[in-house]
Amino acid sequence: MPLDLERRFPRRNLAFWPSPIHPLPRLSKELGVEVWAKRDDISSGLAFGGNKVRKLEWLAADALNQGCDTLVSIGNIQSNHTRQVAAVAAVLGMKCRLVQEEWTKWEDPVYDKVGNILLSRLMGAETLLEGEGYSTAVKETWERALEQVRREGGKPYAIPAGASDHPLGGLGYAHFADEVAAQEEKEGIFFDTVVTATCTGSTQAGMVVGFGEQSRKRRLIGIDTAANAEMTRAAVTKIAKATAALIGINREIRDDEIEIDARFAGPDYGLPDEATVAAIRMAASLEAMLTDPVYEGKSMAGLIAMARNGEIPKNSKVLYVHLGGAPALNAYHSAFA
Ligand SMILES: *Cc1c(COP(=O)(O)O)cnc(C)c1O
Repeated sequence: MPLDLERRFPRRNLAFWPSPIHPLPRLSKELGVEVWAKRDDISSGLAFGGNKVRKLEWLAADALNQGCDTLVSIGNIQSNHTRQVAAVAAVLGMKCRLVQEEWTKWEDPVYDKVGNILLSRLMGAETLLEGEGYSTAVKETWERALEQVRREGGKPYAIPAGASDHPLGGLGYAHFADEVAAQEEKEGIFFDTVVTATCTGSTQAGMVVGFGEQSRKRRLIGIDTAANAEMTRAAVTKIAKATAALIGINREIRDDEIEIDARFAGPDYGLPDEATVAAIRMAASLEAMLTDPVYEGKSMAGLIAMARNGEIPKNSKVLYVHLGGAPALNAYHSAFA
């Protein structure tokens, strides 16, 4: 049964739905497993889009209903999320203030100048470079930015890191499950395995809730990119439970519905390892599908390894969910030297 969330919660359309799905024939041949991609990375005309646009549609409607005039959020210096918040603020005619923390010790002279942060600045967002260290905890720097907007007479709308730990944060990817089911029916296919990157949690959490309501069960593999699978699991669990309650689903979210694989996260958040770089090269050279060193290169590395070692069986039909992130590539040129 579809969740029909669009009829139940206000949503501001910011993209071209449904995002495309298509086979990846050359990658499939290489891996010996049928793999398709779901392209949330190219689903929006807003500054390269990505998974945060899907989530922000529901928060944007809420911000407008509340009469807010400034979106305030937080992320890494090369955050895709804050770039998407800047984009949403721009098209809604709102102001935008972004706390850009140093979550990654990536030594590159242009790390804080190119890619996502450049785009955010072009779209008129104010970027505050302060704070460090990735965590899903509420940050004091973010609270301060909110307070500052209030002091200046503005009405801020608070969007946490990744638009995740927010009452409406899980709606986008719960709805995503309905979208996938409709595309499966149209294509005459069923994906028994779904692979997604996971970090602040609401992408995977929404999918857990949405797919969990479908009659045919499938395996959802979250590839941890925070390099802290326990923190990621706690975030996904919390958001899945809150989202289920919000939607009015009367069942417990079980621990075994939340599969988080810690093996492909690399040395730390935002730092690629050899497998990440090899996966980025493979997806690019076989399919011209661009993935990034922070998120999608890691979920691609997980897909490649698990298809090759049989953890994803040969007869599987796999949906690789591409969540965006390629705008960060230029800030990582030295990883490919
Ligand atoms: C934010 C992000 C993720 C992780 O999604 P969460 O909802 O934070 O778990 C994965 N890939 C890309 C490209 C992202 O920007």
